[in-house]
Amino acid sequence: MTKFSLKDKVAIVTGGGSGIGKAISLTFAEQCAHVHILDFDIESAQETVSEIELMGHYAKAYLCDVSDQKNVMEVVESIIKNNKIDILVNNAGIAHVGNIESVEEKDLDRLYNVNIKGVYNCIKASLPSLKNGGGVILNLASIASKVGIRDRFAYSVSKGAVLTMTYSVAKDYINHGIRCNCIAPGRVHTPFVDGFIRDNYPGKEKEMFDNLSKTQPIGRMGTTQEIADLVLYLCSDEAGFITGSNFPIDGGFVTLNGN
Ligand code: NAD
Repeated sequence: MTKFSLKDKVAIVTGGGSGIGKAISLTFAEQCAHVHILDFDIESAQETVSEIELMGHYAKAYLCDVSDQKNVMEVVESIIKNNKIDILVNNAGIAHVGNIESVEEKDLDRLYNVNIKGVYNCIKASLPSLKNGGGVILNLASIASKVGIRDRFAYSVSKGAVLTMTYSVAKDYINHGIRCNCIAPGRVHTPFVDGFIRDNYPGKEKEMFDNLSKTQPIGRMGTTQEIADLVLYLCSDEAGFITGSNFPIDGGFVTLNGN
C-alpha cells in the first residue's frame, strides 16, 4: 500500500479555490481523497474542482463564507448527510497590515470573524461526523502565532488564537479519536502575498517581494506544494501519533533569524 494514501477518505478544505488551499485540495485528490471545497469565491473553487476532475478524481465546490455560522452549518450538514468526514483543513484566512494604532475596530472584527470564528464554525459543524469514528483537524496558523511580526497586529491576534484553539480542541477530543494540529508557515508565494503587497505597497511591489523573500533565512518564500505536502503527512494515517502539535514550515524564520 502506498504511503500517505487518503483512499476512501472524505476531506473538507476551506479556501480551496486559491493558494495553499488549492495545493492542499489537489494533493489530497492525488492521494484519492474525496475533496469538498468551501470557499466564498465559488468560481475559483470550481476551477480547483475542474482540475481535480481532469485528474480523474472526485471533488465538489460549495459557496460558503466560513465566518457565517448558519451558512457553514447548512453546507457541512449537506456534506455529512451522505459522507463521514475524515479530515477538516481550516485554511481560509485573510491578512491585514497595520499596528494597533492604525487597525480600525472594523478591521479587527473582520480578521476575528474569518480567521478565528471561521475555524470555530467549521470545527463545530464537522464535529458530529468527526466524533463518529475519529478524524483529523488541521489548522493554518502562521509564524505570527509565535513571534512578533512588524505591522501585523490584527493578523497576529487571529493566528495566535488559531494556535491555542488547536491545543484546546486536541485536548478535548483526544478520546474521540480526533487528532488536531496546526502548521505555522513563513511567507509562501500565493495570491494572498501578492494581494497584500499590491494593496499596501503600491509602486514598490518588486522591492517588497524581494524583502519578504529575504526575511526567510533560507532566502526565498515557500511554495504552496511544500505546504501541501506537510499537510498531507499530518492528515494521513502515518501521522497517527501526532496531536496537539504546531509545525513550523518557515525556511528558518522563527529559529534562525537574528544570528
Ligand atoms: P489566498 O488568499 O491565496 O487564498 C485564501 C482562500 O480563502 C481564497 O480562495 C479565498 O476566497 C478564501 N476565503 C477567504 N475568506 C473566506 C471566507 N470568509 N469564507 C470562505 N473562504 C474564504 O491565501 P493563502 O496565502 O493560500 O493562505 C491560506 C492560509 O494560509 C490563510 O489562513 C493564511 O493566513 C495562511 N498563511 C499564509 C501564508 C502565506 O505567506 N501565504 C503564511 C502563513 C499562513
